Amino acid sequence: MAYYSIQGIQLTDLAKQFGTPLYVYNADKIREKISVLKSCFSNIDLKIKYACKANTNLSILRLMRAEEVEIDVVSPQELELALLAGYNGSQVTFTPSGVDFSEIEFAVSKGAIVNLDNLSVLEKFGQKYGTSKGCLIRIKPHIFGGGNEKIMTAHPESKFGISIHQKAEILDLVNKYGIKIIGLHQHTGSDIKDGKTFIDAAEAVFEFAKDFKDLEIIDLGGGFKVPYAPNDPGVNMEEVGAAMSNAFQEFCQKYGKKLTLWVEPGKFLVSESGTFLTQATVVKRDPVKTFLGINSGLNHLIRPMMYGSYHYIFNASNTDEAKQEEYRVVGNICETDTFSFDFKGKQNERLLNEVKEGDIIAMANAGAYGFTMASHYNSRFLPAEVLVDGGEARIIRMRETMEDLVRNQI
Ligand SMILES: *Cc1c(COP(=O)(O)O)cnc(C)c1O
Repeated sequence: MAYYSIQGIQLTDLAKQFGTPLYVYNADKIREKISVLKSCFSNIDLKIKYACKANTNLSILRLMRAEEVEIDVVSPQELELALLAGYNGSQVTFTPSGVDFSEIEFAVSKGAIVNLDNLSVLEKFGQKYGTSKGCLIRIKPHIFGGGNEKIMTAHPESKFGISIHQKAEILDLVNKYGIKIIGLHQHTGSDIKDGKTFIDAAEAVFEFAKDFKDLEIIDLGGGFKVPYAPNDPGVNMEEVGAAMSNAFQEFCQKYGKKLTLWVEPGKFLVSESGTFLTQATVVKRDPVKTFLGINSGLNHLIRPMMYGSYHYIFNASNTDEAKQEEYRVVGNICETDTFSFDFKGKQNERLLNEVKEGDIIAMANAGAYGFTMASHYNSRFLPAEVLVDGGEARIIRMRETMEDLVRNQI
């Protein structure tokens, strides 16, 4: 994972050309992941719906569209971004959580397919659209899966989806208003590598589906785990894809109709494409430990501090492994602000090739939930973004200036 170049361009050259902190994405990696995913599902009608909250840069969305990957959005603004990137409304699924009905109306007005996650909104949908528009419903299958508590979305106490124990209430509303349920959806969580979790969730949806007569789609969500370090196992996509395809085929036979299977990966498609480049500002040799201070913080990459997430960190300016040192890698935000966590979610020290102040410090797996979760905390500028494609690096989001920080202030 300690790669020092992308498509032949040195990370240090990218840092020099575009400055730091900088998010860099490798377009080829995204294409590779798309094609892996496509090849892992066989003999079924599969549609990939990129869960774009992972990375909404318009250039990434355009790339997805060019690869015939459709899109899942969670806000009206993500929907607008998808349209700006060239998607048709009909290629967009709106999967919000607990939003006002006006957002559903907005999505419908743009031609998007909506995915409803509570009974109250389902009733309003029935009242407003009756039999005229189809929709998906998101169910909560009461299944435990996901890398940590904050990213589990299908367990009994999760806020997401309509509980599978409320099937009768759903059917009452469907019958009362003639709502056309064209698809059932569930999303278990993120960072799931265990194939059984995906199959358990699928079986729960298939069981639930028997009572719905108008189905065209089964949407089994995303959450496929990616590797975060050289020996870290990601999901075995071939195995999971084959098992899901088989289970889906069997279901279609029983259901008596060939449906389309949707999956909605975010992380799987973009996480590994991204590298976050920062610069070493201070090497502080404290009596207790050595801190490596960099010119960024949780304002730019919050996953470690928010989830205790592991990011592989390396010194892009020094390939000499003969002399390494342990560093606690920290940001400049004025509270505990650590980038180096172990796999159990505890702050740790990392062995890096010896760091000199000014070196470029890189973090892997920065393509998903990196920039999209960045904020202006401490009133620092957001990082710039660069896409490397066809052996060329091009800026896809400019670095900010003071004007950006004060634009809407009066
Ligand atoms: C976030 C999200 C996903 C994507 O999750 P990943 O772990 O990034 O694959 C898929 N579906 C829904 C509804 C989501 O909210």
